[in-house]
Amino acid sequence: MSIITARDVTLSFGQTPALRGASLTVEAGEVLAVMGPSGSGKSTLLHCLAGILTPDDGEIHFDGRRLDTLDETARSALRRDTFGFVFQFGQLVPELTAEENVALPLLLHGVRRTAAVRAAREWFPRLGLDGLERRRSGELSGGQAQRVALARGLVARPRVLFADEPTGALDSLTGEHVMDLLVDSAREQGTTVIVVTHEPRVAAYAGREVVVRDGKVHSLAGEPVGS
Ligand code: ADP
Ligand code: ADP
Repeated sequence: MSIITARDVTLSFGQTPALRGASLTVEAGEVLAVMGPSGSGKSTLLHCLAGILTPDDGEIHFDGRRLDTLDETARSALRRDTFGFVFQFGQLVPELTAEENVALPLLLHGVRRTAAVRAAREWFPRLGLDGLERRRSGELSGGQAQRVALARGLVARPRVLFADEPTGALDSLTGEHVMDLLVDSAREQGTTVIVVTHEPRVAAYAGREVVVRDGKVHSLAGEPVGS
């Protein structure tokens, strides 16, 4: 069963076309890698699928409903309540502790602070972060910070986790460890994962790969992907 569908999506930044008729179907529960060269439109596609950017043309459907025509209030509620995000540089709040960073999505859901922090702490042993709960996130290593960011992306049990170059700032061994944890944790809770990466070693953790080239989505074999 598909959870997200993009149909003929186009989007330009001024004169720069980023997506030129991108179509993609994402199956519920799958881990999908979106590959492709720098500047091909991967991040733009991810941002459209997540309701962060609005396409100029085409359609995005989430869970059987039109996503791209929702107003900003509805889309931000969807991002907060239903989606999780992991970015290249973690983007943790450096002044907060690691556990406070992980608790943030739950606090935004209205979970009380003690319960949110308690739930956040459960992620630390699972991700090999024992003892780092109270460390200020600005004082973590790159690999530790990215695992904290992963916990933050998954703590609210999102239906879909959007990961944009989640290992891009890490050395390859650390990156593979993070991908391993990402895929295991997501499968455990049935979260669909869409991971943008230009690294084949990272994409190898996914169940399926597609390639974005010149703003269009292709299968690994080079065929354009229909919807
Ligand atoms: P990728 O993620 O594959 O590196 P992007 O989706 O980031 O590609 O970018 C696709 C194209 O759109 C590139 O030419 C990029 O420079 C351009 N682009 C992306 N974001 C913006 C933006 N905010 N303003 C202007 N151009 C942008
Ligand atoms: P990524 O590595 O995910 O493709 P980039 O480093 O290309 O990201 O871009 C980082 C941010 O800058 C993104 O939010 C993207 O939308 C924006 N951006 C990318 N290219 C341009 C551009 N040519 N002009 C303005 N903003 C851009």
